[in-house]
Amino acid sequence: MSPQPPPALLDAWRAFSASPPLLYRAPGRVNLIGEHTDYNQGLVLPCAISLATWIAAAPRDDDTLRVASLQMEGIVTARLTGLAPQRSWGDGVLGVAAMLARDGERLRGANLLIASEIPLGAGLSSSAALEVGAGFALLALTDRAPGPADRAGRWRLAHAAQAAEHQFVGTRCGIMDPACCVLAQADHALWLDCRSLDTQLVPLPAGIRLALCDTGVRHALASSEYNRRRQECEAAVAALRAVRPALTSLRELTPSEFAEAAERVPEPARRRARHVISENQRVEQAVAALAAEDWPRLRAILAASHRSLREDFEVSSPELDAMVAAAESAPGFLAGRMTGGGFGGATVNFIREGSEEAFAGGVSAAYRRASGREAAIRIVTAADAVGPA
Ligand code: ADP
Ligand code: MG
Repeated sequence: MSPQPPPALLDAWRAFSASPPLLYRAPGRVNLIGEHTDYNQGLVLPCAISLATWIAAAPRDDDTLRVASLQMEGIVTARLTGLAPQRSWGDGVLGVAAMLARDGERLRGANLLIASEIPLGAGLSSSAALEVGAGFALLALTDRAPGPADRAGRWRLAHAAQAAEHQFVGTRCGIMDPACCVLAQADHALWLDCRSLDTQLVPLPAGIRLALCDTGVRHALASSEYNRRRQECEAAVAALRAVRPALTSLRELTPSEFAEAAERVPEPARRRARHVISENQRVEQAVAALAAEDWPRLRAILAASHRSLREDFEVSSPELDAMVAAAESAPGFLAGRMTGGGFGGATVNFIREGSEEAFAGGVSAAYRRASGREAAIRIVTAADAVGPA
């Protein structure tokens, strides 16, 4: 059965607009492996998830955008001729409209009502889903939405969403989130090379589910530490140029090449670089393990990723470590690790279909014992890219 929009969206639409709505769906995403590699020009392996942002849309006769969300207060309005940030949640929507117009799209005025199943700010990329979904809806209203096979059109939308986040929202996000939202396919992960923008759909084995286990912890540290990690990676590249003058990113080194030159790099940048370089290799190993359905191997690769993020990159937290340990002893567990930027947020786990409840029960109890906190567990599948509902 194809996914259905939240009934509350259709109820709220009746009070919002007189015309019948057109409906669009934009998925959230989870990164399976390849963490802190995107801004080092490396490899990532996200998949779109079966939690989505839904957009109900109708064209208007004037050039006004009127946007509301069931998750946020207030109606955002703007003229298409005068789009600028308003410092509200609507900036992602106004921004994607501005970026599409900058690319030459002749958009028309619209009423947009938004409802999301993706928890906001939980690392599942509700922001890219909002920007990509709104951009797709606005393009659809002028018959310009990219079809399933229109890669160029889909990339244009992803770049517009990323530019909206940079220029209107003020977050320097990578290309992974919008790329996944426009290119994903159900039952597949999306291998993405953040330098060449090459992609590959990686089939996920049948009979599995993804369990997203949220620690409930959001650390204020996350954004300052994120910026510091980026600088440390740049410092590692700068130090390595003493032996490799043409080096532009950590992505260009294999683990053995790095090992030969590592002593040139002062700590902690050395550990940071070791994580990034080994993580790129683990993305390739994970793709091979998924193709072979070799669960013990995948489990070891994801565990190594988690260890590297904890010890070398130092972005895990006691709660994330406790959540990983809780999952490892729960029924149906196949492989798992922390996902996202770190310092809080969630873990991602491959589990056997049919073990959802037993897994959730086991993880919740073990996490409560270890941390005194409640886990929020969401069971999802790998979903399709943005499109009409
Ligand atoms: P994430 O992308 O991990 O969910 P972000 O902080 O990047 O977290 O994005 C969350 C922000 O995006 C929200 O604070 C809000 O401004 C905006 N947003 C996302 N989804 C919605 C929505 N459904 N309705 C209104 N605003 C949303
Ligand atoms: Mg975001």
